[in-house]
Amino acid sequence: MIDKVTPHITQNEPLLFERSSPGKKAYQLPELDVPEVDAAEALGAENVRAEIAGFPEVSEVEAIRHFTRLSTWNFAIDYGMYPLGSCTMKYNPRINEQAARTEGLAWAHPYQPEALAQGCLEVMATLEAALAEITGMDAVTLQPAAGAHGELTGILLIRALLEKRGNPRKKILIPDSAHGTNPATAAIAGYAIENIKSSETGVLDVAALEQIVNEDVAALMVTNPNTLGVFENNIAHAAEILHGKGAMLYMDGANMNALVGIARPGDFGVDVMHLNLHKTFSTPHGGGGPGAGPVAVKKVLEPFLPAPRLKKSGKRWAWDYRRKHSIGRVKAFYGNFGVLIRALAYILAHGGPGLRNATMDAVLNAVYIRKRLEAYFDLPYQSPNMHEVVFSDDRQAAKGVRTGDFAKRLIDYGFHPYTVSFPLIVHGAMMIEPTETEGKREIDQFIDAMISIAKEVETDPQLVKTAPHLTRASRVDETTAARKPILRWKPA
Ligand SMILES: *Cc1c(COP(=O)(O)O)cnc(C)c1O
Repeated sequence: MIDKVTPHITQNEPLLFERSSPGKKAYQLPELDVPEVDAAEALGAENVRAEIAGFPEVSEVEAIRHFTRLSTWNFAIDYGMYPLGSCTMKYNPRINEQAARTEGLAWAHPYQPEALAQGCLEVMATLEAALAEITGMDAVTLQPAAGAHGELTGILLIRALLEKRGNPRKKILIPDSAHGTNPATAAIAGYAIENIKSSETGVLDVAALEQIVNEDVAALMVTNPNTLGVFENNIAHAAEILHGKGAMLYMDGANMNALVGIARPGDFGVDVMHLNLHKTFSTPHGGGGPGAGPVAVKKVLEPFLPAPRLKKSGKRWAWDYRRKHSIGRVKAFYGNFGVLIRALAYILAHGGPGLRNATMDAVLNAVYIRKRLEAYFDLPYQSPNMHEVVFSDDRQAAKGVRTGDFAKRLIDYGFHPYTVSFPLIVHGAMMIEPTETEGKREIDQFIDAMISIAKEVETDPQLVKTAPHLTRASRVDETTAARKPILRWKPA
């Protein structure tokens, strides 16, 4: 309809290919003032194409408008609250961006000689030290490119240590509340997986753990607070049980937003863990990367860390490649450097007390949401929650409305959906993580939207089941849309 009224503002942006007309250009070059070189001669005929089939030809303004219009179709953290649980979608302060764009850092080359890269090495060394302090661990590698990559690195470190002790062992224990990347990591590292059921209060069942830990168990992988948003208050005891049998404790640190400045995994028995800099330490994510998943370890695992390691000789930083027990490189060069700068800027801008405040606000916000929504939604685990809260769609399901329907309706209210159907141990999960960056006004609007939709479920469930109604595209088949996307707009 809108297209008919104002046809120049198309609500259904065509593909750039569809906008193309032959001969249009988005650039203008001055006349050549050097001798012309024949491309085929210079590059070899086999490397030169006569034309690029179907290459779109558009003007500069068409290209700019196309991408700007498309960008308005997206939801973004700069646009509104993004309560996607387990993801810590917090606002990324612009000062981080400014730091990452500092000329000497942004234009540094990884092959630059050490003598000319001292500033970059200092940035990395400072970040390693800050993360070691925050986690209470002894050493940190910045190489892994994401959380899952950090997990794999961490489990390979455990394998290397156990192998050196004579037996890599066979199994990794994983609670039923774990993120899917945990079992995937264990399997790729060559381990069998044994599941541990959570207790009724939603935490690790230590009695069950004690029963199954034996000389076949290499490690327990646990997220703390776990994916129910509940702090594993038996974690130190679990560590003792594992260590008593020569096994290790791996902590998935994706939920460190609930702990930074308050509790240190190194103090409650964790041997190795990863951090998601793109979650806890405020670097942009959600668009597919880049991220960073540094791994922090206790001293026993330090010799196995990926090479090279930063080492200070005299007043200068240098890379140490001669590490005979190292598991080797896990990433080209030294990790996603731009992400590392953003994380360090965030840490230094906050300082210790600021980081601690952020954690307390993150927890306060989630507890506030829980308190105001408890009357409207089923809360399967009653344990106190930390930085996120997991409801289920039990009450709404009675009217035929499931968590996915509810989430779609939230889009009409201007919010990004919460996490749908995860963790798997909660049937019809609605997992909400506000983070510390939301103020009370925005959070109240979100809560009001949730309550308003809960009321719609009572009066007009069909409205919710067919949402969203205010977006350009309504319901799509999610599997087909991902596997066989239809990108072309066909006018009706
Ligand atoms: C996000 C997340 C991961 C994976 O991290 P990536 O950086 O996406 O690879 C692992 N575990 C938990 C609990 C997470 O939330």
